[in-house]
Amino acid sequence: MPVERVLLASPRGFCAGVEKAIKALAWMVRVFEPPVYCYHEIVHNRHVVDQFRARGVIFVDDVDQVPDGAPLMLSAHGSAPEVVSAARDRGRVVVDAVCPLVTKVHHELKVRAGKGYTVLYVGHEGHEEAVGTMAVAPDSVRLVRSEHDVEVAATEIAPGAPVALLAQTTLSHDEWSDIMNRARERFPDLWMPNRSDLCFATTNRQAALKVIAARSDAVVVIGSVNSSNTRALEKVARASGCPLVLRVNEATELPDDLTGTVGVTAGASAPDELVDAVVARLAPVHGVEEVHVTDEDEYFPPPPELRDLLRGLAAAVAVGLAAPAPAEAGAAGTVTSDVGPGDAGVGVGDRHISAADVLARLAG
Ligand code: SF4
Repeated sequence: MPVERVLLASPRGFCAGVEKAIKALAWMVRVFEPPVYCYHEIVHNRHVVDQFRARGVIFVDDVDQVPDGAPLMLSAHGSAPEVVSAARDRGRVVVDAVCPLVTKVHHELKVRAGKGYTVLYVGHEGHEEAVGTMAVAPDSVRLVRSEHDVEVAATEIAPGAPVALLAQTTLSHDEWSDIMNRARERFPDLWMPNRSDLCFATTNRQAALKVIAARSDAVVVIGSVNSSNTRALEKVARASGCPLVLRVNEATELPDDLTGTVGVTAGASAPDELVDAVVARLAPVHGVEEVHVTDEDEYFPPPPELRDLLRGLAAAVAVGLAAPAPAEAGAAGTVTSDVGPGDAGVGVGDRHISAADVLARLAG
């Protein structure tokens, strides 16, 4: 029996933070001779990372691996303060592609720690976002991964001491709310931000998925195994009672025996071309129904360092200064002459360009 119908969640796929990061790294690839370096995967998607690798980007997990003077991008997940300052040493050209919503959590942690709070941070141990955030105030923060961790914290924090609760932006809503409720019980004066730290992209994708999961015989979540928001989508689909939930990197990983109604969504770092390929492979006999739950028109402008860089380069090109001298060719940090005066405007406001188009142009 074939797949009868595909229910396609909307929103799905790239969020504003991922759009910003991909476009910024694409600019770095265009502006500098390879290699451009990137601290951690720019976003957690194998397909996206492989496309940048093919264009000469080298991904590192230690900024000491980056040569002096080389161009270096810091990933969307946010980096520890000491990593950011080490990156900026030794003449490197550093562009930080951190999502502003992660920066907001860094700020909340810094402020609460400064006021003497113990901060319970709900997150996944070892995930880049959690590691980078907790490094903002390591002496004031405790990682909590479960209600049990909240109970342990309650036995170890002095009664009446100020306690705050923050979170990784990409958790599943249920995972977050169970821990939050337990923390409120155990710490009646708990401080929390007005809205949880779960970002709009995370909550919107989960809300759309809940609607399609309730109508589906199987749900396919497209995204990489190390993508936290993708894993959260898997949890949401399972919690919705869908009998079969599959996470795939790409269409070739789909089993051949899916039938009935299949729900499809994609994590915030998964490109739409992967969704198109999955839908094509499922080949639903009664077509595709897009289930639209909410509009999403957030936009994050390029990182300020990149805007400054592009303005400077465009100005230099205008007066004939940016083409590399022969002796400099191939040196770390060498710029290409592939930037014109008009590009400064694109760098300042690139809302009209999609990251999917940028990736397609890179591949071409
Ligand atoms: S998932 Fe949320 S926090 Fe992460 S990059 Fe996207 S918008 Fe930012």
